Amino acid sequence: MSRIVVVGGGAAGLELVTRLGRSFARRREHEVILVEPASHHYWKPRLHEIAAGTFDDELDAVSYLQHAYCNQYQYLQASMSGLNRNKKQLEIRNVDGDISTLDYDYLVIAVGAVSNDFKTEGVSEHCLFLDSAEQAQQAWDQINPLLRAQGEQHISIVGAGATGVELAAELAKVSEKLGRYRHDAKLRITLIEASQRVLPAGPECMSEKVQQALLKHGVEVRTNTRVKRAEQGKLITDSGEVISADLQLWAAGIKCAPWLAELDGLEVNRLNQLKVYSTLRTTRDNAVFVIGDSAECPQPDGSFVPPRAQAANQAAMHLARQFKRLLKGKSIKPFVFHDGGMVIAVGHDYAVGSLMNNKLVLRGRLVRNLYDTIFRLHQRILFGWGRVTALVVLKRVKGSLNPFYKNNIS
Ligand SMILES: Cc1cc2nc3c(=O)[nH]c(=O)nc-3n(C[C@H](O)[C@H](O)[C@H](O)COP(=O)(O)OP(=O)(O)OC[C@H]3O[C@@H](n4cnc5c(N)ncnc54)[C@H](O)[C@@H]3O)c2cc1C
Repeated sequence: MSRIVVVGGGAAGLELVTRLGRSFARRREHEVILVEPASHHYWKPRLHEIAAGTFDDELDAVSYLQHAYCNQYQYLQASMSGLNRNKKQLEIRNVDGDISTLDYDYLVIAVGAVSNDFKTEGVSEHCLFLDSAEQAQQAWDQINPLLRAQGEQHISIVGAGATGVELAAELAKVSEKLGRYRHDAKLRITLIEASQRVLPAGPECMSEKVQQALLKHGVEVRTNTRVKRAEQGKLITDSGEVISADLQLWAAGIKCAPWLAELDGLEVNRLNQLKVYSTLRTTRDNAVFVIGDSAECPQPDGSFVPPRAQAANQAAMHLARQFKRLLKGKSIKPFVFHDGGMVIAVGHDYAVGSLMNNKLVLRGRLVRNLYDTIFRLHQRILFGWGRVTALVVLKRVKGSLNPFYKNNIS
């Protein structure tokens, strides 16, 4: 019997333990353990909904404890903090801060990434981030009073990638809908981007359509604007312009946690992503794999797998299959990412999608349904279609009975 330890229960790690648990642990062939500090899983591409008060925890958050029980893997509520490759042991810290070790035969690291402040002065002190459910909740705790305040309140968001765009549009929509009930509720939102266009990593035609939709929602878009410094209530740009705001959020770039660079000699790149071969094995250790945003994984064309939810899901599915081969003594196959396109939600009933290698750019309500389907596909892996159907129906019913935002806006 082998023990597979997966560290991090996000888009990649949770799908992997679900598949491995169902395949191996149910028949007690191999042991599968998830190490994750949080008690609940939130799908990261929806964190902006927590920040905007529109996320439904009751329906869409997943309890690791219950999920582990139903899918036959073990869940340890702890964080990885170190590694001893010779002893095949990882160091973990539990929620009380106690440190212990955990043996493994195979280790999979899937701890994701966080936003990158590019060492911009004052950002960590004066901007909020959306890298975890806790941070998104903290953002909501500060946005909620702004929605209750008299007169116009201003929020600046730095970074017009998927996170920044979706957050700006969601907040604009919440403000617009709330304005129907209370005419004094109004958010002014400025989205700031250093590149020439929003969604700089996406195709140009998509950027245009997304920008048009943002403008329609009343979001002020500032491209070619690089923030040089953040201070209390203001951002100072390269040209010396001061952009004042009641709240500042930073949603630009990605980097991985510094402790990944200190894992017993495992190789990292300048973003602290662990370097792996296309088999997802680390370059220095055959027993250690990395998937998701924390991996720098090469592709046949010389590029690297992008840090996206879709890539994390595909890598999890691939590695689950490869473990079946590996544990039977067979060789494992390389992971090749297949880009199924990009869909960006702009508010509650509109999305822009780029499909077929960017040859087709679609927009509208149907595309927004496609965006929701991507989340439902993630849930399908975790629960199966039966429960997902029940969740969709419940959400519809709740949506028709309750206000769209959290009840604590008064
Ligand atoms: C607000 C937002 C919107 C986004 N929108 C999109 C989008 O529209 N489309 C898209 O493709 N991508 C989007 N992304 C990116 C996408 O969410 C990530 O690419 C994806 O979640 C990466 O999956 P992952 O499993 O590598 O990491 P994550 O999903 O981040 O999971 C990492 C897990 O590791 C855990 N962890 C962290 N440190 C430790 C530790 N020391 N020990 C144990 N566990 C640890 C964390 O608690 C977390 O559960 C968005 C991201 C954000 C933040």
